[in-house]
Amino acid sequence: VNNTDSIFSELASLAIRVEGKGQYNVAKFIRAAQDSLLRAAAFRLGYDTDEAGVLAEFARVILRLEQEGCDPALLERLRQGYRKMEANELCTIGDFPPVSVCRRCGTVGGAFGVCPKCGSDIDSFVVHRPIYWMKEFDPMEAMHHLMKTPLKYINRVGALSADEAEKKPTPDQWSVLEVLKHIKDAEVVLNGRVKRILTEEHPYLSFQKVWDWADKPVEKKEMVGDVLAIYKQSRAETIRLLEEAQLKSWWRTAVHEEFGEVALLEQVSYFTAHEISHLRQIGGHY
Ligand SMILES: [Zn+2]
Repeated sequence: VNNTDSIFSELASLAIRVEGKGQYNVAKFIRAAQDSLLRAAAFRLGYDTDEAGVLAEFARVILRLEQEGCDPALLERLRQGYRKMEANELCTIGDFPPVSVCRRCGTVGGAFGVCPKCGSDIDSFVVHRPIYWMKEFDPMEAMHHLMKTPLKYINRVGALSADEAEKKPTPDQWSVLEVLKHIKDAEVVLNGRVKRILTEEHPYLSFQKVWDWADKPVEKKEMVGDVLAIYKQSRAETIRLLEEAQLKSWWRTAVHEEFGEVALLEQVSYFTAHEISHLRQIGGHY
């Protein structure tokens, strides 16, 4: 156990003990310290996207987790996920169900009853979802960001020349134009899904490789202005559909090929948080 490992476990233990004293406003700073240190350490390692590199790292981490005595069922899911990624296959909720962890002792899984190690009720476990976007915003917050985020994109892109917008920072990174095409594509997918969930009973939503469309060659070259125009027009309609819907309609459901049953709220929250995450690539920070 090295120093970094011990500060993380000490912070996690201290947070639970300070919460046990009812000092939640203090405990949140202890949790923030833990979160900050962990993310800063990850950032120092870097987020290299090279596919072979990601798989090699994944294999190395699985071996390390075996040595650390990680939960065998969790490890099996990781091995299965590795093989799927290697074969470039879609990993669906059927093969990869929700996974929960005891907040107090780290025990993995369990569908009912109490934690076999520390007695915590199963309903107190933290449940890990496919991506934080799904549960990031409530309806009011989502509407706020659906209106605000396009303005952020427009502000950041406004001053760029066509050359600047088309310049790739490195050959395997997106240009500003490609980022804009991607968020426009995502908006159009969101618009179609909102319509379907509001008008159909439990529609089936097929998996879309939206990120694969942005840098594909196209017949007619798209300019920043055209892309933004389609994005804004589609967004205005999406907002109108959601504003006209009853609040309870946000809990209408669909079956998503990758994620299983999803509520309209989860789909809207997902796309809203997703496009915020891409703003970084417009600001010149990679
Ligand atoms: Zn436990």
